[in-house]
Amino acid sequence: MKRNLICIICPRGCAMTVEGEGTDLTVTGNTCPKGKQYAIDECTHPMRTVTSTVRVTNRPDTMVSVKTAAPVPKDAIFEVMKRIRATTVKAPVKAGAVLVADVFGTDVIATKSVE
Ligand code: SF4
Repeated sequence: MKRNLICIICPRGCAMTVEGEGTDLTVTGNTCPKGKQYAIDECTHPMRTVTSTVRVTNRPDTMVSVKTAAPVPKDAIFEVMKRIRATTVKAPVKAGAVLVADVFGTDVIATKSVE
């Protein structure tokens, strides 16, 4: 396997190449160890923070922005979005409030307040 990646850990955006199979991977092009770890994680168990919105039922045309408090497995994004889409809340909502609990080891939290 050979895969080219751009590191997204910092603005420098190093162009990296990952070669190898399974957990026997060689990373080149990284400037620091964080990039190497990102490349290995991306090739072995990619994770993503999911961002979306949840409808506020007692405020017309109002949505509250949400995100997972921690990254979830990339393969789980569809299931996380299903849980988010099935959720509605009532105002007031405080930023940081847990709107969907225990989703793949984390929570979905509000990222803004709605009075
Ligand atoms: S490898 Fe290191 S220096 Fe390069 S983008 Fe990633 S974090 Fe930044």
